Amino acid sequence: MKDRCTFCTIVKPTNTLILGTTWLSFCERCGDKETFERMTDVGLEIKSIRELFDDAAQARINKERAGS
Ligand SMILES: [Zn+2]
Repeated sequence: MKDRCTFCTIVKPTNTLILGTTWLSFCERCGDKETFERMTDVGLEIKSIRELFDDAAQARINKERAGS
């Protein structure tokens, strides 16, 4: 699988954010710059791609901790 940023479409090292069925590959720069809107239980949430990625990583860690 090629590492191509979804936003600037340049091939370079990217991280992948998975939101349901949506996969977003993003480079360092776009992760900070691009934002994503989604509806949550508490209303519309606007976060940077980087923040969402960090949230997902944190949720995974919390889940692993809870499971052990
Ligand atoms: Zn990019």
